[in-house]
Amino acid sequence: MDQKTTSAATGGKLYDSIVDTVGRTPVVRINRLAPEGVEVYVKLESFNPAASVKDRLAMSIIETAEKNGTLKPGQTVVEATSGNTGIGLAMVCAAKGYPLVVTMAESFSVERRRLMRMMGAKVILTPKEQKGTGMYNKAVELAEKNGWFLAHQFETPANAAIHEATTGPEIVADFAGKRLDYFVSGYGTGGTVTGVARVLRRERPETRIVLTEPANAQLVGSGTPQKRGADGSPAETHPAFEAHPIQGWTPDFIPAVLQEALDAGNYDELIPVAGAEGMEWARKLARMEGILTGVSGGSTLAVAMKVAEKAEPGSVILAMIPDTGERYMSTPLFEAIAADMDEEEVAISKSTAGYQLG
Ligand code: PMP
Repeated sequence: MDQKTTSAATGGKLYDSIVDTVGRTPVVRINRLAPEGVEVYVKLESFNPAASVKDRLAMSIIETAEKNGTLKPGQTVVEATSGNTGIGLAMVCAAKGYPLVVTMAESFSVERRRLMRMMGAKVILTPKEQKGTGMYNKAVELAEKNGWFLAHQFETPANAAIHEATTGPEIVADFAGKRLDYFVSGYGTGGTVTGVARVLRRERPETRIVLTEPANAQLVGSGTPQKRGADGSPAETHPAFEAHPIQGWTPDFIPAVLQEALDAGNYDELIPVAGAEGMEWARKLARMEGILTGVSGGSTLAVAMKVAEKAEPGSVILAMIPDTGERYMSTPLFEAIAADMDEEEVAISKSTAGYQLG
């Protein structure tokens, strides 16, 4: 192992808890897929301990609530989540000893449920017809009835705050003294883009922030405002919402956390992307660069590539890659990836005499 690898692996440091390993994710250049003359980088949130960007949020929500006393020792935590927030919360709650109950629409991938249950969480499925609002309302009902701590990922200030405190400064440090022309991100809660945008607007005002959302669910693009309750939570499904294949992106309402970035004009361009295109780019990223990501990562990369095609030579683009492809083995992302040998593999097998399947 060379010197660089050794210090990057350990930092000469012993960690007191898995929670302390959240953040400081690597930014990696794309070498074989990027167009000539333009540099495309990806920030790989799969390097977090529970393998997604939502580990940051989970740590922030629990540690903020511990500090301000809204979460008592041993109190049950409850949250509505499409998966990654639940997996992040399951990691943090297991490490700190809080019971966790997650509500989740039945439509999300089964690996997510099993990962949460593996880390001790209870997963309560809600009907897919009732969409994001259904799973959210179920979490609220459970919290009120049982006196549980509701994590409130779509409204809590602890969400964008952790990206302002960690993700944003990591990007600024990694691109210190270097061009950064575009930052590309989708939104689920909007925590990533809202928090990172606060930092970039302050410290890298020349960086153009590109927001993206599913082509068949253009909530922001529609220009129709979200109807909300007094606490910022959605009063009804947004009229532009349609079911889409980009898990973790764009719930059926515009989250309060994202609204701040919209109101502040903290994005410069909005480029929609079709889920099928995102899956194609996720497969290319795996095949050509050796980087596994999910549908939202592929979709972000698809938009980064659209930006790259029209960017002036020398431009530098950064795409947020929220999680890993392994979380999607049971979904359409892996549908075309066979479990059995194809013709070419059979031919390779037959090219020597021994050890062939019968
Ligand atoms: N992609 C995936 C797979 C996610 O789980 C999430 C979070 N729900 C996002 C993207 C978006 O992140 P954020 O909530 O910070 O907008």
